[in-house]
Amino acid sequence: MASKPDIRNLDQRQLIKFFENSGMRGYRADQTLRWLYFRRADNFDQMTDLAKDARTLLSTSFYIGKPAVRDKQTSEDGTCKFLFALEDGNAVESVLIPEKDHYTLCISTQVGCAMGCTFCMTAKTGLTRNLSRAEIIGQVIAAMDAAESRGGMRLSNIVLMGMGEPLANYKNVISAIDAITDSNWGLKFSTRRVTLSTAGLADRFDDLARDARIRLAVSLNAADNETRNRLMPVNKAFPLDRLIKACANYPLPARDKITFEYILIKGINDSEKDALQLAKLLRPVRAKINLIPLNQHPGSGFVRPEIKEIESFQSILTEKNYTAIIRRSKGADISAACGQLRGETKTLSHS
Ligand code: SAH
Repeated sequence: MASKPDIRNLDQRQLIKFFENSGMRGYRADQTLRWLYFRRADNFDQMTDLAKDARTLLSTSFYIGKPAVRDKQTSEDGTCKFLFALEDGNAVESVLIPEKDHYTLCISTQVGCAMGCTFCMTAKTGLTRNLSRAEIIGQVIAAMDAAESRGGMRLSNIVLMGMGEPLANYKNVISAIDAITDSNWGLKFSTRRVTLSTAGLADRFDDLARDARIRLAVSLNAADNETRNRLMPVNKAFPLDRLIKACANYPLPARDKITFEYILIKGINDSEKDALQLAKLLRPVRAKINLIPLNQHPGSGFVRPEIKEIESFQSILTEKNYTAIIRRSKGADISAACGQLRGETKTLSHS
């Protein structure tokens, strides 16, 4: 099986080329794509409106991968964490989060992460490798199946906020987003309901604006370079002035804003002065702010502030006319919250 490629690693252009090179008409590609994404087929025999010779050609050349759910844990709040086994023995996690009237899925883009943020658990292992296009899409397909089998709400929102830095796996991420959002043959997610979160790789913002029309979130976490260098080493490569300039230049549809995520850490970035500096820093940008109380883990030395302090930080931003929402991340009891994903099988000890 491993000798044949997973067909979901080919984008539309490559699949058209494949058919043409095999002496078949290119329109077969669109038929195939519709089966692979919109209909979520898991074998070529299902593709009944495709001529037999085309089906045979596909099945001798490719296979249709399906991410293996190695484990699934459900939190008290309904949040569900999937551990997916990848073919090379690595694993990644995705988190399915029930909201009021829909599900949001948080997906991973890399095995591990190279960003080295000092408050984040995923950073501890470093980067193992990028996920392929098929592995990124596979998380969405598996979660759509799971949401449907539960019945009720639809999975309508996707956040690229799981393990890894999406802009450091640029090509595969963009290619996966194409299949996730294509409204003709794809999984048909609205581009307004797909959000990419970055640690701030500002040199990719122009490319992103050109290649995908999704929402952008930036993990800021500090309003001065000294603090941000300490929390997020990537700030040394893309310091705040460069990052904010890239955000200000990012073309946004009418009424849309960039979301800035700001983890609150006691005594590090949660003072009144920090809030005022943040308000000033974001002036040039159409911004809204998500305040995330730190999810603590042992050994990091970082502590979550009291709720009173979090609320007074919020009220300073509100006074300065920002929309600032306190976001308690869900699924903390099963280590599914922000900054807790690890993708290691050996940490799972439940039955
Ligand atoms: N690399 C991307 C996406 C993954 S991190 C990025 O940096 O945005 C997703 C979010 O989880 C980020 O906003 C990050 O700041 C947050 N996060 C990481 N560790 C956390 C922790 N311990 N507590 C709360 N949020 C955390």
